[in-house]
Amino acid sequence: MAKPTFAIPDIDSFCLVDRLGLTITGQRIEEHRAVLECRVRDPDPWCRDCGAEGVSIGTVVRRLAHVPLGWRPTTLWVRIRRYRCADCARVWRQDTSSAAAPRARLSRHAVLWALKSLVIDRMSITRIAAGLGAAWHTVNDAVLEAGRQLLIDDPARFDGVEVLGVDEHCWRHTGRGSRFVTVIIDLTPIRDGTGPARLLDMVEGRSKQVFKSWLDAQTRQFRDGIEVVAMDGFTGFKTAAAEELPQATAVMDPFHVVALAGDALDRCRQRVQQETLGHRGRSGDPLYGTRRALRTGADLLTEKQHQRLQKVFTVDEHVEVEATWRIYQKIVAAYRNPSKRQGRQQLEAVIESLRRAVPRRLQELISLGRTFNRRAADILAYFDRPGTSNGPTEAICESEGGWSGTGWSGWMSVVPTRV
Ligand SMILES: [Zn+2]
Repeated sequence: MAKPTFAIPDIDSFCLVDRLGLTITGQRIEEHRAVLECRVRDPDPWCRDCGAEGVSIGTVVRRLAHVPLGWRPTTLWVRIRRYRCADCARVWRQDTSSAAAPRARLSRHAVLWALKSLVIDRMSITRIAAGLGAAWHTVNDAVLEAGRQLLIDDPARFDGVEVLGVDEHCWRHTGRGSRFVTVIIDLTPIRDGTGPARLLDMVEGRSKQVFKSWLDAQTRQFRDGIEVVAMDGFTGFKTAAAEELPQATAVMDPFHVVALAGDALDRCRQRVQQETLGHRGRSGDPLYGTRRALRTGADLLTEKQHQRLQKVFTVDEHVEVEATWRIYQKIVAAYRNPSKRQGRQQLEAVIESLRRAVPRRLQELISLGRTFNRRAADILAYFDRPGTSNGPTEAICESEGGWSGTGWSGWMSVVPTRV
């Protein structure tokens, strides 16, 4: 094996500011945030009007949220030099357009990080904003704008799409409900193992009509080329796909199947908690204390988590939680089985067992069973078409809430590869 070679350590390239046209001149590291003081590399002293050399008249600071480095929200504190032309008195400042869009508050890298975190890692805008140390609206606007620009720049993005992913994202929780955006992804490169998924479009709203209209607006050739549509549990997408793409196979995404089962488990735990203790879970309550362990894949439990679960399950009143947990674990195990054939059989057995008489008290499992029964073909279709998933299925259940554990890793493989 070839010996690795090393370059001289360089903070500018390490912190990704060199490609922003900046150089770091100072740092301030606090426990929960970091500030990097920067200068603009290009002096930029020539008058825009007459070409004469300008005289420096001091600096102004532009603050930009940057990618979180070392887990800390990181701000670039960019000192920008101002000049006045000695001949015509025009005033200007150094050009920072490589670092960020005009008036933007996020560096160009931060915008890509945010877009990738949202679309691929399914982080919420709230979490992304926390990671960047920026306001919710700032991040929301930047992500929408970046998505739009990167899409418009690539008219060829619809060519050769055979596996289409459609997915709803909760864009924002408001007092009156939630706002949704429908994200449409090309999963063909994932299936073929040729690269990352590509973002095709983001459309406001979530309904059958949103997806149907979108499909309708594409070319006949595009629609005919689609072989598989990977989707979440939202029935509207399924109906739209059936009407617009009758030849395509619908596949329900493993991530969403596991999420449905996880939600059933959460609801069961909360109900039993309420019935046994008469109040919502608080710290110190045994069931509440297991809420993370319950949703962790059984083979990934720590010894401590394992013991805590066993202790909770020995209590008679918790038998319904244990029953629901067992089903949840069987579903996880089916997806984690390296053999797709065996995984399919395992999940088929789960769906079949939920179809038979489930005790009436297990109301969460009954309702889960109804959904699974209705979507059985779509759920099982995944095993015949591995790779047709919207997300990194290998990460399923490695941490609470599915794949939140992937949130910070691998962010260099940003969806849009062009910057
Ligand atoms: Zn001038």
